[in-house]
Amino acid sequence: MNGDKPLDCLVIGGGPAGLTAAIYLARFHLDILVIDEGKSRAGWIPCTRNVSGFPDGIKGTELLERMREQAQKYGAKIIDGTVSRLEREEGFKLVWYRTGPKALQSNLLPYVVEVVAADKPGILFQLADFFDKQGITIESLHSSRYRAMQTGAEMFTAQVTVGIPSNMHIAALRDDFMEFCDHLNLDAIMDPMKF
Ligand SMILES: Cc1cc2nc3c(=O)[nH]c(=O)nc-3n(C[C@H](O)[C@H](O)[C@H](O)COP(=O)(O)OP(=O)(O)OC[C@H]3O[C@@H](n4cnc5c(N)ncnc54)[C@H](O)[C@@H]3O)c2cc1C
Repeated sequence: MNGDKPLDCLVIGGGPAGLTAAIYLARFHLDILVIDEGKSRAGWIPCTRNVSGFPDGIKGTELLERMREQAQKYGAKIIDGTVSRLEREEGFKLVWYRTGPKALQSNLLPYVVEVVAADKPGILFQLADFFDKQGITIESLHSSRYRAMQTGAEMFTAQVTVGIPSNMHIAALRDDFMEFCDHLNLDAIMDPMKF
């Protein structure tokens, strides 16, 4: 599905075979989507001399690029991704969207949250869930695991930039956040972004 409009055809894989199908289908004015994981074997070919119309040969990556352009020129949509499982309800339904630049929201105050803790499964999810439940947006998030050089402990760290609605009571939010962190034994700070 593209929004509410069903696709005419979903092409899984954007190698020469999938892109050839996409070009033909797009030329028939059908609404199609190609999902490609980007591991085409054609990408390995230094110079193929088997492709009609290229008597001197063409590099595999360039061929793929040209085929993508050709398919898109006639309306095929191509997104990078992996189709890992097809969901069947009564019929086949695929929901997809492409992210775009985010509109500025001047009613949101940027705060930086830094968390360090002993690594354990699910911290990141719980952190994101805390903000989500308060109606606070996550503007950016970087997290990593590392082994502490001094002791060898498995550690977790996250730097999160959040957008707090300007009508939210900051002190109350900070109290709730610190209580949440205490409960999970996370060391955390939450400070306004100053630039
Ligand atoms: C080293 C090398 C040299 C070669 N030289 C030549 C040559 O000189 N001349 C020649 O004619 N042929 C050559 N070939 C063969 C040629 O590369 C293949 O025949 C051709 O790429 C097959 O095209 P395809 O679209 O069927 O598959 P692929 O090119 O493999 O493309 C399949 C695409 O589908 C994607 N995909 C798979 N599963 C999923 C999924 N679940 N979700 C999303 N995407 C998915 C993959 O990531 C990939 O991008 C060569 C191959 C290799 C490896």
